[in-house]
Amino acid sequence: MLSQKLHQAFNEQINHEMASAYLYLSMAAYAHSMNLPGFAHWLELQNKEEQGHAMKLYKFVNERGARVELLPIPQPKSDFKSPAHLFEEVLKHERKITGLINRLYETALDEKDYPSQVLLHWFIEEQVEEEAAANEILETIRMAGEKGHALIMMDRQLARRGMN
Ligand code: MG
Repeated sequence: MLSQKLHQAFNEQINHEMASAYLYLSMAAYAHSMNLPGFAHWLELQNKEEQGHAMKLYKFVNERGARVELLPIPQPKSDFKSPAHLFEEVLKHERKITGLINRLYETALDEKDYPSQVLLHWFIEEQVEEEAAANEILETIRMAGEKGHALIMMDRQLARRGMN
């Protein structure tokens, strides 16, 4: 059985993952509006991945005999200044999520809840990958520039992302 404190913390993390999914979908809509289908494709897959994170937590809470309570999802940001700005926001967001996962892990340590700690190891590793992927794309955009040919090449590269 999950402690009350962890139960609440997991409910909140499910909400953060769903809010992430919603943010990425909003970013994808921006990319479509900029005629960047490759960027939109990458962000739409990211939206699905975040839903997967939420479901992983949802399943765990159920398995531990607690009841998931869904919380409201805030309206996501919808205006971005440029493709570089978009990925600055992605990186900033993933760093925020890393902080939240770390805090959740600290709660699992305080509560001496070992199954939660094991589950969260997966999320801790996942956040390393999320930040690295966002950072790599941002650096490439900054290096190549975000206009004309360079932007088209970047869009084609992002279009090749497969579901992982
Ligand atoms: Mg996530």
